[in-house]
Amino acid sequence: MNIGFLGLGKMGMPMAMRLLDANFKLTVWNRSPEKTTAPKKAGAIVVSSPSQVATRSEIIISMLNDDTAAIEVFKGNEGLLKNEVKGKLFIEMSTLRPSTVKKLAKSCADKGAAFIDSPVSGTVGPAKEGRLMALVGGNETNLERARPVLEVLTRRIVHVGEVGQGSLMKLVINLPLAVYWYSLGEAAAMGHAGGLKLNVILDVMKDSGASMAAFPKKIPEILGESDLVTFDIDTLYKDVEFILETGMDSRVPMTATQAVLSACEAAKKEGLGSADATELVRFLMKNYENPKK
Ligand code: NAP
Repeated sequence: MNIGFLGLGKMGMPMAMRLLDANFKLTVWNRSPEKTTAPKKAGAIVVSSPSQVATRSEIIISMLNDDTAAIEVFKGNEGLLKNEVKGKLFIEMSTLRPSTVKKLAKSCADKGAAFIDSPVSGTVGPAKEGRLMALVGGNETNLERARPVLEVLTRRIVHVGEVGQGSLMKLVINLPLAVYWYSLGEAAAMGHAGGLKLNVILDVMKDSGASMAAFPKKIPEILGESDLVTFDIDTLYKDVEFILETGMDSRVPMTATQAVLSACEAAKKEGLGSADATELVRFLMKNYENPKK
């Protein structure tokens, strides 16, 4: 089966490499062409526009930054939908606004193509290991068609509803994650201001009910002992913006989310947009530093 892949970023690159390892015939495109070198070496065909990916592929996966990128890639001058796409299946795996996903699905349907949204839970490590969780919105037939590809990338595929519901589910799980890192910053700032050492705070937290799955692996970054970036503050900010809008549309007050957005905004202003999201913890600690320490 000919698969197309667009977006070779922190997540897209390991996902594309897994598909190549699984012997799928892969055609790739990335806005910055230098990122196509590794997939090319591993056997991928590299093309110079999204429209060429669509022409060469039966199933097309996109793993892009945000809504602007996805709209550009689908509907731009040399976009995926420029040429004949009847019968093809698009799997949109980026984290996007549910409303955008529904519009993309409609544009595909207007051209006779199928579409599912399948954002993922999990970060770069699980992407490398094929241990992501796919949150799928779309009809059964399209999901069954996508399944052989999704199985290479994921440990679990959850069909949550119609197109757009996968994206909504992704925002639902990202809300407590975003609030978690933010609240960890406040907790660490409070403990540190009272004289507790950060490594002690994190060590105790890891072994308590205040831990969560992603936390222990991130301790080196929080302590400043590693500068590994798997999920940056720009991406966190983008997600939190989508979460806030989506929640407020449903008349949920979103008070905690608003606080995270303000913290991300402040961190971005300090030039931390491309830093790992866990940098937010140290940023908040620094901001709240208590003179009595
Ligand atoms: P990333 O490293 O910043 O990669 C983003 C990709 O989008 C790159 O290939 C980039 O191309 C491309 N892109 C950005 N703007 C574009 C535009 N206007 N036109 C075309 N291509 C554009 O981001 P990532 O961390 O891989 O995340 C990708 C998606 O997965 C996001 O929606 C994110 O929310 C979601 N996600 C991320 C994680 C994570 O842990 N990182 C986990 C789950 C879900 P260039 O190479 O040219 O910049």
